[in-house]
Amino acid sequence: MIAHTPTLFAAVALVATILAFCLLLVGQFNRRDNLLLTGCGLLAHALAYVCYTLYAHAPLWISYALGNSLLSLALAFYSASLFRVREQPVPWRAIFIIPAALLVGLMLLLDTLEPRMLLATLVLMLQCSLLLYWARRHVERAGRAHLLLVIGALISLVGLGMRVVAVVLGQAADMRYDTSSLKQTVSVAIGTATVMMYAIGLVLMAKERSESRLQHMALRDVLTGTYNRRAILERFAVELQRARVEQASLAVAMIDIDHFKRINDLHGHLAGDEVLCHCVRQLQQRLRQVDSLGRYGGEEFLLLLPHTGRDGAMTALQGLREAIAQTPARFAGADIELRFSVGLWCGVPGLDDSAASLLGQADAALYQAKAGGRNAVHMAAAAAA
Ligand code: GH3
Ligand code: MG
Ligand code: MG
Repeated sequence: MIAHTPTLFAAVALVATILAFCLLLVGQFNRRDNLLLTGCGLLAHALAYVCYTLYAHAPLWISYALGNSLLSLALAFYSASLFRVREQPVPWRAIFIIPAALLVGLMLLLDTLEPRMLLATLVLMLQCSLLLYWARRHVERAGRAHLLLVIGALISLVGLGMRVVAVVLGQAADMRYDTSSLKQTVSVAIGTATVMMYAIGLVLMAKERSESRLQHMALRDVLTGTYNRRAILERFAVELQRARVEQASLAVAMIDIDHFKRINDLHGHLAGDEVLCHCVRQLQQRLRQVDSLGRYGGEEFLLLLPHTGRDGAMTALQGLREAIAQTPARFAGADIELRFSVGLWCGVPGLDDSAASLLGQADAALYQAKAGGRNAVHMAAAAAA
């Protein structure tokens, strides 16, 4: 089916305008400027297509030079939005110099057909490739939204590639904006698909980003940054099940800072906070990647050591206890010594062992360690037998 090209351009402009309007409205109210940047990109995209509809009815500098520079500006906004959503510094100058340079170049080549077409197409292809490159760089956890953006950029490259092939084959006249041909219809349809994909991809990326931030906030202890109670208990359920299935030994350590109340009373609450952070930092430096540490309560931490037998767990916890005892925290120029006691349960969990029962046994062992004079590691009786 061959569609009337100017009508297609107008349809793309309408779609992009509606999307831009929606994003600018939402982006402004939520102050989420990557949505604003995407909205600006869509607006530039829409204006570019309005310029294209004016081909042969308005001066070439509007319908061609300005039109393509606006499309290049749209890609620049999408790139900026990509950096913003990842919370990385935006290389504004490098990104926005491209549409400006394209405008100058097109004005100089306005009276030609092939050279101006090649310049516009190659610059837009360069921008799509850059977008692809930036989208693939620094991706911590590439979600579906990221995939949408990558597909959008790839499709753009195909559409633009068709234009380059037309120029190389001497068929540049077929791709004039007032010509309606199958090639033109396909090329503009591709343009429509990419507008939608860029817009939806960037919006979904922002959504994924805020979801992962919320998830992080929901699972982390605000003060120390380690897992909070809910998160460490979730980890516990996972490790317990894994140890049961693999018939592997799991060590569960309840760590409680000794006489922490005294630290607060002597040095103040802020010093106490710093001691908690110091303790977490020191522990985390010495743990394996597979170990999990979480703040279970005020000055109590739950530590899970998967694939760790009784002797190994005892040696590890004694090592941690000694290391902490030898490394005082610093607050307001003063050294604050700290010690902790540990209640330890270690073994291959059976079907009767629940998280609550193992925690109970670790807690009882902790009570023994405290009763025995503190600054000690006590192994729960059942596992020690
Ligand atoms: P023990 O050796 O028997 O464990 O004695 P302790 O003083 O460490 O234990 P206790 O339960 O008597 O006191 C714990 C204190 O921890 C009381 C509470 O005010 C303090 N605490 C709990 N959460 C925080 C916190 O986030 N920051 C600070 N600075 N203190 C906290
Ligand atoms: Mg306590
Ligand atoms: Mg304590």
